[in-house]
Amino acid sequence: MRTLILPLLLATACTSEPNTSAVNPDGSRNTDDPEGPGPEPWDAAVDAVIVEVDYEPAAEPATGSGLGGDPWDLFDANAAALFAGTGVTVTAPHTLAQMGELPTLGEDTFTASRLIELSDAWRDTLSDAHTSVVHVLYLDGRFEDDGQVQDQVIGVSIGDTGVVAMFGPVLDQLGLLPVTKRFGEQATLIHEFGHAMGLVDNGVDATTAHVDTAHGAHCTNDRCVMYWANEGASDMADFVSQYITTGSEVLFDDACLDDMAAAHGVTE
Ligand SMILES: [Zn+2]
Ligand SMILES: [Zn+2]
Repeated sequence: MRTLILPLLLATACTSEPNTSAVNPDGSRNTDDPEGPGPEPWDAAVDAVIVEVDYEPAAEPATGSGLGGDPWDLFDANAAALFAGTGVTVTAPHTLAQMGELPTLGEDTFTASRLIELSDAWRDTLSDAHTSVVHVLYLDGRFEDDGQVQDQVIGVSIGDTGVVAMFGPVLDQLGLLPVTKRFGEQATLIHEFGHAMGLVDNGVDATTAHVDTAHGAHCTNDRCVMYWANEGASDMADFVSQYITTGSEVLFDDACLDDMAAAHGVTE
């Protein structure tokens, strides 16, 4: 089975067959490992999603109540909207003290296999039959796919492994204004979290025709955070400045929210 990698800024990248404990040889999740990702988040038994964040010192996530407020409030607002009425709670850290600081890794590039290895090495949130874990790594390097360094990829979500990576040197290109960078970074995380949660048609079935088939697993609505191409730092900056003014906007459109509701048995 091929592992689909979902970068924010490219159409989609492809394939890699990580052979580590988070993933079984057939590509499925290894749910026996208590420090693994646990069940897929759309599994009916899941009532909690925990977001674990680890970061390299040079790729520290934006936090705190600086310009524009706490960017993690934006994450919470979007996670709550995504799971509204489902009974699934999402817990994410807000402060660096609630995240894990990695050593400086000294790696300029990271392949998908390497990201899975790092997640296996550093993940410490316990999962169980009711808890699905998303492990987010903020790294001081760029994504490498098929031997090519991906200069424009700011984040990736790797298949259904629950592993998300955010690439610090590319995040640094996200706009001239610090407030744009703060919220551009968070919008990127929300996009990757959307993939990890099964959007679009990525584990959670699409209930209306909004799948961007040319750019797999994305939404056709350019006002939705799951649109494939807030392509390049300047378009992401535009997205952020057009749609984020209070720091609590829901960035998913109704089509994406409806898919998630349907997957979790919510009827309107
Ligand atoms: Zn994407
Ligand atoms: Zn959408």
